[in-house]
Formats: sequence, C-alpha cells, structure tokens
Amino acid sequence: MMNLAALVHSLRRSLSRIESRLLQAAGLDPTQPAPALAVSGSSLLPRIDQEHQLEEEQNQEQNQEQNPGLLDSILWMAVPKKRRTIEVNRTRRRSENKLIKVKLNIEPCPECGHLKQKHILCGFCYAKVCKETGLIREKIREMEGGPLRAPAVETVVLYEGEMPREQDKDKRIVERARKRPSWFNY
Ligand SMILES: [Zn+2]
Repeated sequence: MMNLAALVHSLRRSLSRIESRLLQAAGLDPTQPAPALAVSGSSLLPRIDQEHQLEEEQNQEQNQEQNPGLLDSILWMAVPKKRRTIEVNRTRRRSENKLIKVKLNIEPCPECGHLKQKHILCGFCYAKVCKETGLIREKIREMEGGPLRAPAVETVVLYEGEMPREQDKDKRIVERARKRPSWFNY
C-alpha cells in the first residue's frame, strides 16, 4: 500500500513538472508572470539604480558637511579631571612669589615730610600744587568771561604783597588773594 502511494505521488510530480516545462517552452509560465515588454538592455536598469544610490549617498555626505549637527557647533573646553583641594589652592594663592615685594627705596619728602619713594614725585605735594593751579585757572576763567578769549600775551600769577617785575610789565597779571606758598615758585 505504501509503495503504491509513493509511486502515485512521484508520477503526479513528474507529470506536473512536464506540464510546467511545456508551458515554459510555449512562453506561458504559470508561476512567473509573462513579461509585458521585452527590454533588450535589461542590464541598464540596475546600473541606473546604482547611479541613483551613489548620487543619494554623495548628497547625504554633502548635507552632513554643509549642515553640521548641534554638537559640532559647541565649543568644547578643557575640564579639570580632579578637584583641587583647598589646601593646594591656598598654597598656590599665598605662595611667596605672589607676595608684594618689600620696597627699600622709601624716604621722607623734603617739603612735607610724608614718606615717598625715591626719584618719585611726592603725592601730597603734587595734590597741593594741583589744587592751587585749579584755583588759578578758575580765576583766569572769571577774568576772561568765556571760552576762546585768552589774550595773546603771557600770564603771571601774583600773590598778596607782590609787585610786577620789570620783565612782567606787558604780561597779563592774575592776582591771588593770599600769601604765596613756599612750595609755589614765582
Ligand atoms: Zn611732599
């Protein structure tokens, strides 16, 4: 019984195979659809597809180059890997090299007695002279009464009880209502 069934099955398979061969030979393949149009250069199509793929890949690369991502625009900075202890920080901040150097060129001002550096103008004396000069400028401004009215002659400052000398006759005289200070030269 089993042999007979196997024989029938093999016969049926061989018959169906012959049928499909005949149909293929006649151009009527039941499993594969018949080609509607025979293209002679059928190998062109895949080549075009490959070219399309290549072009797409190149476009993608160009886009990546032209439009960088968000992470590319961030400026990456160096970051310390370990925290420095407060001891290390304070040792660095208070090191000997950062101390102000001791100045040994200090002497008293011969005019006022304040301490000052050698070969450097005394700050207190300079401030005094600046204040007196500012007062003289104010007086001159009052005399002129406005800008751009300065005369084309020299100016001499006279203090209380002073008379113009021979050489100051043609000069403009600015009088100050106080005694001449010892530190303000003629
Ligand atoms: Zn001084």
